[in-house]
Amino acid sequence: MTHNAQPTASHFVDGTYVEDASGTELPVIYPATGEQIAMLHSATPAIVERAMQSAQRAQIEWSAMTGTERGRVLRRAADIIRDRNRDLSVLETLDTGKPLQETLVADATSGADALEYFGGLAGAVTGEYIPVGNGDFVYTVREPLGVCVGIGAWNYPTQIACWKAAPALACGNAMVFKPSEVTPLCALKIAEILVEAGAPPGLFNVVQGLGDVGAALVSHEATAKVSLTGSVPTGKKVASAAAAELKHITMELGGKSPLIIFEDADLENAVSGAINANFYSSGQVCSNGTRVFVHRSLRDAFVARLTERLGNVVMGNPLDEATNFGPISNAAQLGIIESYIEKGLMEGATLAYGGSRIAGDGYYIEPTVFTDVTDAMTIAREEIFGPVMCVLDFDTEDEVLARANDTEFGLAAGVFTRDLARAHRVIGAIKAGSCYVNTYNLTPVEAPFGGSKSSGIGRENSKEAIGHYSEVKAVYVAAGDVEAPF
Ligand code: NDP
Repeated sequence: MTHNAQPTASHFVDGTYVEDASGTELPVIYPATGEQIAMLHSATPAIVERAMQSAQRAQIEWSAMTGTERGRVLRRAADIIRDRNRDLSVLETLDTGKPLQETLVADATSGADALEYFGGLAGAVTGEYIPVGNGDFVYTVREPLGVCVGIGAWNYPTQIACWKAAPALACGNAMVFKPSEVTPLCALKIAEILVEAGAPPGLFNVVQGLGDVGAALVSHEATAKVSLTGSVPTGKKVASAAAAELKHITMELGGKSPLIIFEDADLENAVSGAINANFYSSGQVCSNGTRVFVHRSLRDAFVARLTERLGNVVMGNPLDEATNFGPISNAAQLGIIESYIEKGLMEGATLAYGGSRIAGDGYYIEPTVFTDVTDAMTIAREEIFGPVMCVLDFDTEDEVLARANDTEFGLAAGVFTRDLARAHRVIGAIKAGSCYVNTYNLTPVEAPFGGSKSSGIGRENSKEAIGHYSEVKAVYVAAGDVEAPF
């Protein structure tokens, strides 16, 4: 069966689809079959300029509206997304290869949640009144930053576009968004839907391209803020470029998060948590708990039950709703994952499950579990961004805490135990931004999401995001005469 996902044009700028065929060709590949499903073009400097100029114009109009009016547009967009959930989910599956079973519940719906939540908050973005004596007072105003640039990774193209656009727009900003060139299709639909919901043309533009287009957007003089979801090396480059012009940033970067399973954990829940922490979206989730520390006394039972349950994986056609494990999103990433599996074997880890690529044109690789992993091994130190779980044994709480924190990353962490005092003590001592007790990888829009250390700067979602897409103006108002020294 052939699939065609060719959009009307490559970019969505100033309320309409635009093409400039002189840009470098960007073929879009369906990872389940390796077939080309669309051909797009990278944005030329002229397209980038049009996007930035229309965003500047739209931002002036948009920020003059009340928060409640802006919120209404965002909530309308959320409703449209929910109405079209199936079509948007099929597109996300074609774009990423993720099973429809997942995309139907975790992608467009998560984007709609963000638009609904921040739509509701938009009218509540207010300042405060601060009395300072003698009738004088200061009032504060939370103002938009201007034009924000969003740059996305390829694992959650719809969700990432909405998680960035929703708080940015709620605060009165405009956004120019560059999807990963691997998954360029879904953000175009969000741009279309926002216009349909009543957003002024230019408020949310999508331009395609590789890192050079992202870099051009970051360094553009009209860009006030950059929000990137990507790897740590790209984050360092983008943050440096933004810092050179003192632009605001939010960085959502990679991780190598610890999931700690104590001897008193509910085994079935711990295994479920570890599965969700490693194999959802075929392991391409930044917050994955890929270092699974299991207490030595529970380890054999844990590995036995885990490998038994991995027998229930249904790998295959992602558009079949029975499939629960899809291909890797692109061939380059598949190669990276295979090379990490080889390194794991070379460095002495035991392959307890999987490890092999599935023959054929799709980018499939088995869910993989390594045991006997030590902290120094490459597979325990570097982010793999694929379905590779490392099981590490431990004996004491102090030991596992020190080992869990011994990483440059700090995105997420989880603990499974029935001892609540221990759960809070351990999570309290872990250096990570998004933590879990007796569950893993849930990201409701109401909760802040993001990392510490090399995993990021700033937070997405929740009321926290408002602070990252606005800045405060303080206004001192005098009630009396002005004293001066001469
Ligand atoms: P990359 O870092 O390779 O790319 C991220 C985005 O940045 C892409 O759109 C890329 O464009 C663009 N880019 C690359 N170079 C530059 C540059 N110099 N200036 C501006 N933009 C640039 O990440 P991946 O797409 O490979 O995504 C995987 C990574 O994302 C993983 O490390 C993962 O952990 C992280 N991630 C983090 C999340 C979080 O919330 N913390 C969530 C999801 C993923 P192009 O791809 O077109 O080259």
